[in-house]
Amino acid sequence: MSQIRSIKGTHDILPADSQKWQRLEQIVRSVCNQFGYEEIRTPVFEETRLFSRSVGEDTDIVSKEMYSWEDKDGTSLTLRPELTASVVRAYIQHNLGGQAPVQRLYYMGPLFRRERPQKGRQRQFHQFGVEAFGSGHPEQDAEIIAIAWHILSECGLNSDSTLQLNSIGSPDCRTAYREALKDFIRPNLAQFSETSRKRFETNPLRILDTKAEHEQKLLDDAPTVSDCYTDEDKAHFESLQNFLKAINIPFSINLKLVRGLDYYSRTVFEFTSPVLGAQDALLGGGRYDGLVETLGGKATPAIGFAAGMERFLIAMDESGEQSIESKTDIYFVCLDEDGITTTLSISNKLRQAGFSVISDPVRRSMKSQMREANRSGAKFAIILGETEMESNSVVLKYLEKGEQESVSQKGLLEKLRKLTN
Ligand code: AMP
Repeated sequence: MSQIRSIKGTHDILPADSQKWQRLEQIVRSVCNQFGYEEIRTPVFEETRLFSRSVGEDTDIVSKEMYSWEDKDGTSLTLRPELTASVVRAYIQHNLGGQAPVQRLYYMGPLFRRERPQKGRQRQFHQFGVEAFGSGHPEQDAEIIAIAWHILSECGLNSDSTLQLNSIGSPDCRTAYREALKDFIRPNLAQFSETSRKRFETNPLRILDTKAEHEQKLLDDAPTVSDCYTDEDKAHFESLQNFLKAINIPFSINLKLVRGLDYYSRTVFEFTSPVLGAQDALLGGGRYDGLVETLGGKATPAIGFAAGMERFLIAMDESGEQSIESKTDIYFVCLDEDGITTTLSISNKLRQAGFSVISDPVRRSMKSQMREANRSGAKFAIILGETEMESNSVVLKYLEKGEQESVSQKGLLEKLRKLTN
């Protein structure tokens, strides 16, 4: 039988890396807690129409990247390609808005998109993100951006990454802008790619997302969305900028930043990092004041962001931030078959007292067990041989210094407590 391998674009996270993941997860949890955000976990699959309605039929995600299938009862189901839609669905379904005027939520988990795999782009990847429901005011936008900034700082990434900020205005502003942009592009439409020509009809703002240089050139003098802001849009955006300055978060305005999904309004932002190469977006988000209503809930302003965890880890590796620490305190070396029961019972007592203990289950020679003990990164080895069995003692070896001493089995826990305090 040929060897079974993981699916293209999916990755195993092996022990050598899982510590880095845990560290990132811890940072996310602790910063979110500092801001009063609580975790929400939703299922990995949902009804397909949740995503087509919220993310948008003609976005790349919905039109070509979703893993969808028909369930036995004929319902179309999809592995979630993003998490905001699921969180909004849960918010409406459980009437979270009725429980408190502001809901502050964060999440972490795997997502699925059938994209072309490359560095920083996978078919199963992970995001963490936050969503705040209930406030349409710019201080809420500043808070969401501050959470992202704190997490980036804790990860050592704030000095390398750039915050790009834009407002794409309210729906009225965007309707006017859509027409202005179409009027500008129309005379040169033939020079645009087929994808952009299609977007011209369905979602012209997304043409601004183009990566093709000749198209970017054609768009150099395009009108910007700021030409169409309403007075309220302008005031919202200005306040946000003032708040960010007041809390010392540097940003640059990018009037061409629109972000790929349909549901955004007003504030949109993205943190990028040069170390990521072509896929340089670390974290992206924005305000989505219309989405709760679109999905059948009461009109509720909301804003959030999502960040790619794989990309965070790549950037953290590049910035040399990571140091891996062994989690093992003690490696138990047992040299005598008759000592196995004693090994098991001492190991368990030490674990109950809070130490982490590895014992060797393959009955190897002293030399190979000691080699393993050194490799484990443990601080201590406990050695139990025939002599120690006879005298109810163990040898306690300080692996770093190489020194060792004999300790009675009774006094071992006390001794270790003293040594580690
Ligand atoms: P999006 O949900 O498309 O706005 O993406 C938010 C963040 O998720 C991006 O800034 C990336 O860091 C990350 N991301 C998006 N797509 C992928 C992917 N296919 N593989 C890895 N990370 C991704």
